Amino acid sequence: MISLLQDYLLRSAERTPDSGALVMGDDRLTYGELERETNRLARLMREMGCVDGARVCVLAAKTPWTIVGLIAVLKAGGVYVPIDSASPSARVARIVDVADPSLILADGSAVKLVDDLIDAGALSRRNTRIGSVNGRLSGAWFTSAFTCADAATLSAEPLGRPRVSDDIAHLLFTSGSTGVPKGVMITHANVLAFVEWAVRYFGMKPTDRISGHPPLHFDLSTFDIYGALAAGAELHLVPGTLSVNPRALADLIRDGELTQWFSVPSVLTYMAKFDVVTDHDFPALERLLWCGEVLPTPVLAYWMRRLPHVRFTNLYGPTEATIASSYYTVPICPVDETAPIPIGTPCDGEDLLILDETLRPTPVGEIGDLYISGVGLSPGYWRDAEKTAGAFLPAPNGPGSTERIYRTGDLAQRGDDGLVQFLGRADSQIKSRGYRIELGEIEAAVNATEGVRECAVVGVDTGGFEGNTICCAFSTPDGVELPALALRAEVSRLLPAYMLPARWREMDALPKNVNGKIDRKELKEWFVRELTPAQGAQQR
Ligand code: AMP
Repeated sequence: MISLLQDYLLRSAERTPDSGALVMGDDRLTYGELERETNRLARLMREMGCVDGARVCVLAAKTPWTIVGLIAVLKAGGVYVPIDSASPSARVARIVDVADPSLILADGSAVKLVDDLIDAGALSRRNTRIGSVNGRLSGAWFTSAFTCADAATLSAEPLGRPRVSDDIAHLLFTSGSTGVPKGVMITHANVLAFVEWAVRYFGMKPTDRISGHPPLHFDLSTFDIYGALAAGAELHLVPGTLSVNPRALADLIRDGELTQWFSVPSVLTYMAKFDVVTDHDFPALERLLWCGEVLPTPVLAYWMRRLPHVRFTNLYGPTEATIASSYYTVPICPVDETAPIPIGTPCDGEDLLILDETLRPTPVGEIGDLYISGVGLSPGYWRDAEKTAGAFLPAPNGPGSTERIYRTGDLAQRGDDGLVQFLGRADSQIKSRGYRIELGEIEAAVNATEGVRECAVVGVDTGGFEGNTICCAFSTPDGVELPALALRAEVSRLLPAYMLPARWREMDALPKNVNGKIDRKELKEWFVRELTPAQGAQQR
């Protein structure tokens, strides 16, 4: 009986202990090895103070050893918190502070970051223990200022922790509009529900070779990991360094004979732009899935024309509803390349509701706000009842209903065919290179810089692979000189590189609308004209 995510691993290890489980370059772990290594590390984590429900922050590159670390946290009864170790230390410190971990698992790539956190006092305050993954099979797993233990001496038998499906498996921090990233709580049951549906729907099997492209702090990666474990398949991790190298990615799909590819659309767009896919390329590939943003129809047509043997599926959903909530398998190569691809119909156990402002369903063909209900819904944001109450509402089913709905912030419309179309965001969240970004978080960082009087950040869709170009307008008090380059350098201390505005405009004062609010619409039009002169001319 599968009730926890790690049960998938145990089941596959019992069935096919010698089959490959994790692959990256020359590193390879079989199911038997993965089961034993995770058991040992879980025991070590218990010894290091990982009690049931304790958070373990993971600051490590995507490698098989980091995956061992994540699963070991679950086996130790903990909750893992994967954090982008490429983020500036100030942002990581905020996340670590909110997550309140009892253990931090870091690898060599994060040494400096951990040092910065200690210097900043973000770690010492709470007696956090720091372990470092050293990537040796059955070797010493941790070296730390506090403890040095040799995992090889520990038993490789399962711990048998008494956890239940509704316990939290991980916290995923997404961009927050007030400047503080929000920790989405994801339970074992949330992930199990999606994986069970996906394994059935896609027919995933032990002979599959599955890509692991998204970074581990992105919820899409949880499907790669637990989908592969559930199917007893081989997970081929794509090193972060290759993630935007179109030729290397094509080689990896070809040479690894991958049967499943799953990524954000911008990667597919980038590969199409560099024309790295030949006719009937990737003969082993059976399905190609994307999620996280709109895949432009001409890009899909590029892929479908070249790979007629592959099944193409659009998956849609926010982190708060776990990996994806709806799907649409594209039946034939689109003829009309101006028609968008639907986000389709709900996955098993989920529902998509298109509601008006009084939470009544909108008629077919009318635009409304998109809400999600069902098995994927997170219990809410970590230690933030207010934000949870603002986004997860009681379902409008009448009194007594305990069902909840999640307000996605997306606009949508249901067609006569019952398929749902995504029509963009209703708020200030954008996608840039696949990353979910709250413009408010960038504004908070710019405003925090000395010498900035006011600022506004907008996203401009330039039709390129990036998705949106982030643009910032700012003003300074009289007599204060703040060149855009200097401001950018300051802001880069607070935000990861993918959140940094690419365009800056210094103004005497930002334009205001009739309510005295910054006129973001006007600013956006200005940036549109600057970035896409042809489009700007049309708008005028
Ligand atoms: P994230 O939490 O990073 O997965 O971002 C969730 C948001 O990404 C959704 O609310 C949508 O705005 C967008 N999104 C996710 N999947 C798709 C898709 N297939 N098509 C268009 N937008 C998507």
